[in-house]
Amino acid sequence: LKRYVTGLLSEDDMEVVTVEAPPLDVPTGSKGVVVKNLYVSCDPYMRNRMTHHELPSYIPDFVPGEVLENFGVMKVISSGHLDFKAGDLVWGMTGWEEYTVINNPESLFKINHPELPLSYYTGILGMPGLTAYAGFFDVPKPKKGEYVFISGASGAVGQVVGQLAKITGCYVIGSAGYDEKVNLLKSKFGFDDAFNYKKEQDLEAALRRYFPEGIDIYYENVGGKMLDAVLPNMSLGGRIVACGMISQYNLEQPEGVRNLYYIVTKRLRMEGFHVFDYYDRYYRFEEEMAGYLKEEKVSYVEDVVEGLDTAPAALIRLFTGRSVGKQLVAVARE
Ligand code: NDP
Repeated sequence: LKRYVTGLLSEDDMEVVTVEAPPLDVPTGSKGVVVKNLYVSCDPYMRNRMTHHELPSYIPDFVPGEVLENFGVMKVISSGHLDFKAGDLVWGMTGWEEYTVINNPESLFKINHPELPLSYYTGILGMPGLTAYAGFFDVPKPKKGEYVFISGASGAVGQVVGQLAKITGCYVIGSAGYDEKVNLLKSKFGFDDAFNYKKEQDLEAALRRYFPEGIDIYYENVGGKMLDAVLPNMSLGGRIVACGMISQYNLEQPEGVRNLYYIVTKRLRMEGFHVFDYYDRYYRFEEEMAGYLKEEKVSYVEDVVEGLDTAPAALIRLFTGRSVGKQLVAVARE
C-alpha cells in the first residue's frame, strides 16, 4: 500500500515492488512457518483497511509502505511449529507476496480436501463460504418456503447463499450489475429469478414486482440505495442479515437510508454478522461444503487472474463490478 486511500481506490494507491526473499528456513527456536503463497484472495473489506480510522476496528488498518495482507492458500516451506511440516497445504492470513513468514501459524487452517480445487479455499471453502453458511443459517434461521432476496448475488458470498437457500427449499431471487451475472444466477446457481439492478429505474417498484408477497429474508451485501428499496418490501417480521455494504466502501460520506422507519412498522430484525465469530466451526463447515461440492449440489464460479502484478487491478474489479464470481489471484501453481 502506497498511502491511505480516500474515495475510489485506484491502482496508483498500491505498488508492486521487488525485494530480496527472506530466508526460506525458519530460525532455530522459532515457532513460525515460512509459506509459499499459491493463491491470494481479493475481498471487499480490504478497502476499509486502506482508510485510516481514528477508532480501533475489528482488524487493524493497513500501514502505508507495508505489504498488504489477506486470506490465501499456501504451501508450508519450512516450519518451527510442531503442528506444521514442509509440504502442508494451509489457508489463512498471509501477505500479498510470493513467500511469507507467518509467526502465529495457530491462526492457519489445514486443508483437508486437496482433491477439490485449492483456489476454493479463498472462496467457497474459505472465509466467504463460511460467511455465506453461518450468515444464512445462524442469523435468520431460514425455513422452507420462505422468500429470500440476495444482493451482490453472484459474488464470492452471494452465489453460495443462494444455493444454500435453494437447498433449504426457499424461493430465491438475486440481483447483480451485469446481465452475464444475472444469467449465471438463473442458469448455473438455480436461483428462481434474478435481475440487473442497474437496469431498474425504480428499485423499490422492481422488488415489489419480484416479491408481491414480501421478502422474508434479505441477505445484505451492498447497502445504500438497495437497502432503502428493500425495507418497504420486507414482510412483517422479516429478517435482514447485515453482512456487508460494498456500495459504501469507496464513499467519503456514507449515503443515508430514507426508509429506516420500516424497521419499526414491519417489526423487522436487522442483525449485523461477522464471520470472525464463527471460525471455531470451520472444520465442520468444511466437511459439509466439501460434501455438497462432491455431490454437485453446489457449484462455484471464480474469476482468477495470474501473477501478483495483476493483484491491484484485480482488487479494483470488485468495486467496478467487473469481477464475475470470486475474485482471486494465482500467485504460483505449486
Ligand atoms: P463480491 O464478490 O460480491 O464483490 C464484488 C461485487 O460487488 C462486484 O462484482 C459488484 O457486483 C458488487 N458491487 C461493487 N460495487 C457495488 C456498488 N456500488 N453497488 C452495488 N454492488 C456493488 O464480494 P464478496 O462476496 O466477497 O462480499 C460480499 C459482501 O459481503 C461485501 O459487502 C463484503 O464486505 C461482505 N462480507 C462480509 C463478511 C462478514 O463477516 N460480515 C465477510 C465477507 C464478506 P454487481 O455486478 O452485482 O454490482
